[in-house]
Amino acid sequence: MRCPCGCGDTIELLLVAEAKPRWDITIDRQYRPSIVPSVWRSSGCKAHFWISKGRVHWCS
Ligand SMILES: [Zn+2]
Repeated sequence: MRCPCGCGDTIELLLVAEAKPRWDITIDRQYRPSIVPSVWRSSGCKAHFWISKGRVHWCS
């Protein structure tokens, strides 16, 4: 997925069960993704956000 802040970076979410940190992605009936917990990039733009029902929420 692309970083939602617009910096153009690609974020790879590690969904492998053994990987840490990892995130859980759920898709609701309207195919809107939610990601928990929040994503906090430790490099690049340091964006901190979470996605709920397809919408990006910023933590700041
Ligand atoms: Zn960014």
